[in-house]
Amino acid sequence: MLDNTIETIPADERRLKQILVNLLSNAIKFTPAGGKVGLNVQADAERQSLTFTVWDTGIGIGEEDQERLFKPFVQIDSQLNRQYEGTGLGLALVLRLAQAHSGGVALTSAPGQGSRFSVTLPWVPEQHADQAEPKPITATQASAIIERALLIEDSPSAIEQARTPSPRILLVEDNQATITMMQDYLHTKGYAMVIARNGGEALLRANESAPALILMDIQMPGMDGLEAIRRIRAHESLQAIPIIALTALAMPGDRERCLQAGADDYLAKPVNLRGLLATIQSHMHLTNGV
Ligand code: MN
Repeated sequence: MLDNTIETIPADERRLKQILVNLLSNAIKFTPAGGKVGLNVQADAERQSLTFTVWDTGIGIGEEDQERLFKPFVQIDSQLNRQYEGTGLGLALVLRLAQAHSGGVALTSAPGQGSRFSVTLPWVPEQHADQAEPKPITATQASAIIERALLIEDSPSAIEQARTPSPRILLVEDNQATITMMQDYLHTKGYAMVIARNGGEALLRANESAPALILMDIQMPGMDGLEAIRRIRAHESLQAIPIIALTALAMPGDRERCLQAGADDYLAKPVNLRGLLATIQSHMHLTNGV
């Protein structure tokens, strides 16, 4: 099933194919004879994203195995893995490729009820006004152009900006494409950005820069986002800083896990930049009483 509003998908063709081949071959492996496997492609103009969903009516995956499937080296003794060897590597690659497109992966599955793997990538609906010279641009470029156009209207004057001290945001993220996109965007919105690339660095930067808010990626090498949130919350001086958790791998119960660790909010990638800004503003208003 293909959403017919989609004309162009801004993605690396070879990598997109790798994503779909991996998911489809897993779906076939997990589905006994007589079952069904399908692919849906659905655009969401408001979220500026499109989602590829590979579904099957197969054996399904228990919650305890779901997150482990995306790790590059899964435990050999897992019953699931003995049955479906090599699956973990394929899914780790799918997640990495989605992240490289500033996108994310979501999984819903239950034993005996099949599985749905959804890969969501940034996407901008086609504009038909200018047909003279179609220029292919990436979704990230397109959203940057739109944001810049909007900025002209709602930006405070340069003098006003100079008078107001920029609130500092600590962005904890290991993916360079996502760092660049969020840093550029939030910078144009008047925020001073501090970057950390893993959980350990996040603790250092949070202590030394006293940010007004923290954006915390969950999947990072070394200390992950959940552990970093817990450790930040253990510091008395850092307890009140709003933390927004960002995940490229959305699992059932994730929001609860992030909130339990001490996050104030949770967003799944790809993050709509305007939605991100609204979330940031709502949490800053709460703490600053503006
Ligand atoms: Mn990450």
